Amino acid sequence: MAQDSLKKYKSKRNVTESGEPAGKKRKGNKKPVFTIQKHDASHLHYDFRLEVDGVMPSWAVPKGPSLDPKIKRLAIMTEDHPLDYATFEGEITEGHYGAGEVIVWDYGTYDNIKHDHDGNLIEMAQAIKNGTVEVFLHGKKLQGAYALVHTHFGNGKDWLLIKMKDEYADARANPVSSKPESVLSGKTIEDIRRENEGILSSGEKKTTSQTKRKAVKKKASKEATNPAYVKTSAGKKKNLTGARAGKKK
Ligand code: MN
Repeated sequence: MAQDSLKKYKSKRNVTESGEPAGKKRKGNKKPVFTIQKHDASHLHYDFRLEVDGVMPSWAVPKGPSLDPKIKRLAIMTEDHPLDYATFEGEITEGHYGAGEVIVWDYGTYDNIKHDHDGNLIEMAQAIKNGTVEVFLHGKKLQGAYALVHTHFGNGKDWLLIKMKDEYADARANPVSSKPESVLSGKTIEDIRRENEGILSSGEKKTTSQTKRKAVKKKASKEATNPAYVKTSAGKKKNLTGARAGKKK
């Protein structure tokens, strides 16, 4: 049933060509996982994904998570992703949706800690519907309680990611800048880019290759004919740009 929610994911992609996972189910009865993928697409962002009922509801967080409970980070809800996407890193090839480098910035399991007024746990899917998610992360970089709260600003896709107050909160720590590497491979976005350019450019200068990549990205978005793709892509771009106003690279 939950696999139906991957229709949007699949409609946006040709996974046999883009190099991304196709969406297989995970077996066993283990604790649900979370992943945070640093993704250098048209705008750098951190994709926060939580395993819920066999798929991964996802949010794009332009500035990444904060450990300071006073800081609210914009988290834009995106389409559900397949479970096997959680450990994907590498390059989404040029001309495909979300083209750019991806690393697994953090990974681990989580506990749902959202309770109702009577102290009963609210199922994750229901918590998402309600617009108030509370999870306790057991990651390599992030630990402790985080809240995702739906806001009624914007186009309905805007949530806020907030560190809840607990012993893991730390207003001074900033792992987004101090720990940029993958928790799986130790690689940075730049490492992935260098590797990829080593394979693709073959004698071509780096600057030429980068210019070419940008040109291909532009061309790809113009050529997209699927109306859902165009709408979502434009909406997302607009949101991310707004969140990063004055911080363009
Ligand atoms: Mn992304």
